[in-house]
Amino acid sequence: MSDAVTVNGNIGKTILVMSGKGGVGKSTVAVNIAVALQRQGKRVGLLDADIHGPSIPTMMGLEGARTRGGLGAIEPVEANGVKVISMGFFLDKSDDPVIWRGPMKMNVIKQFLADVAWGDIDALVVDLPPGTGDEPLSVCQLIGKVDGAVIVTTPQRVAAVDVRKSISFCEELKVPVIGVVENMSGFRCPRCGEVTDIFMSDGGRKLAEERGVPFLGAVPIDPLIVRSGDGGYPVAGIDQNDETHRRFAAITAGIEGFLSKKTE
Ligand code: ADP
Repeated sequence: MSDAVTVNGNIGKTILVMSGKGGVGKSTVAVNIAVALQRQGKRVGLLDADIHGPSIPTMMGLEGARTRGGLGAIEPVEANGVKVISMGFFLDKSDDPVIWRGPMKMNVIKQFLADVAWGDIDALVVDLPPGTGDEPLSVCQLIGKVDGAVIVTTPQRVAAVDVRKSISFCEELKVPVIGVVENMSGFRCPRCGEVTDIFMSDGGRKLAEERGVPFLGAVPIDPLIVRSGDGGYPVAGIDQNDETHRRFAAITAGIEGFLSKKTE
């Protein structure tokens, strides 16, 4: 794509995490994939392209963190062994609203790619803005070469419509779909650990089958995800015996499988 920016660093693979709409857990999945890849021994970067709602700093335990270095050599901030860049690092207060027009936001994304010293990393995980409109489209064009996209959805029918749009978006941009993650799939009781279906679950799996894209796995609604998201300790980085931790590890194994197949 002609608008692509030259990235400052050696990036092995670039993975997008996208969703047809906001609030489905896209950032949660992006953070946990990044941390799980790091746990697998990969050198990982996490680029928060969601300028309006930069939740990545909080989820990574980096609230109030600031970048170092100057133009052309901005140092990403590291947490959980992952190099992170987010608009949140440049705001006075994390809840300050960003009221900017498209071109200004894209200038920031350009800087995140060209002026941040990413160094040598195996995988750059990009948390895209929600939806399939101008913003995610422009971000993809700036990145240029994308190795694959992970589509996050919830199980309900209405959300499935959004996944169809996300798949079409990827087809249009010739971005391979790595697979679909069904988030908030059932409720996991914090006392007994049992998962109860409170929405009609399995929508993500069915849709993936229908459209011929892989299904990467399901993550239940789990109060631990809310606590760990707010507390800045991603589930993928804690207790390996925890079921939700294992779900993220399995999803990430699917992503690694896809990426290694592609290069064979
Ligand atoms: P998005 O990036 O799609 O807007 P977020 O990842 O920011 O969504 O998640 C929105 C909220 O939902 C956050 O407070 C997050 O902790 C919570 N959340 C996401 N996934 C789950 C889950 N599986 N169980 C419980 N809470 C979740």
